[in-house]
Amino acid sequence: MTWLAWLAVIVLVIAALAVKAGRGGVIVFRGGTPGRTDSAKRAQQPETPERMLACERCGLHVPESEAVHRYGSAFCCHDHSLWHFPG
Ligand SMILES: [Zn+2]
Repeated sequence: MTWLAWLAVIVLVIAALAVKAGRGGVIVFRGGTPGRTDSAKRAQQPETPERMLACERCGLHVPESEAVHRYGSAFCCHDHSLWHFPG
């Protein structure tokens, strides 16, 4: 009857490994992979959204870095800055 005892041990070990792999595997998968994508997304996106400025002529909102600044006013494009302040 020793083979039955060994069979019981083997079944218990396999069951324990399956439970351990199930828990650990899922935790590693769920905790690891999305965490990496989250940090990658955070690295690509700026911490704070860029300030939007309204064009003095047409009112179009443009990111501060893309706005045309002229005499303290912001414009959506060079043409609109010339329209407001010719020359
Ligand atoms: Zn404009």
